Amino acid sequence: MYQTHSSIIRVSNVQICRNCKGEGYLTPKPVHIGHGNYEEKLAEECRICKGSGLVKVVKEIETKIFAKDPKDENQYRIKLKKRT
Ligand SMILES: [Zn+2]
Repeated sequence: MYQTHSSIIRVSNVQICRNCKGEGYLTPKPVHIGHGNYEEKLAEECRICKGSGLVKVVKEIETKIFAKDPKDENQYRIKLKKRT
């Protein structure tokens, strides 16, 4: 088999932020300050998605085209490899 072409494709899509589960902010657990009293912590903006609840994921896919016979362009095979 002969490798004829190779290129890298970038695919980006938007996914729900896993850090805050799409909420955009994190609510810390109330801290026990004694005698059954809890201090409520204020919600913090998620640092991963900066409050949007969504993150952009970029994946790189390497494509390689192999020709079985370099003289016959109809016989080829494409290989995809995930890089990220
Ligand atoms: Zn987030």
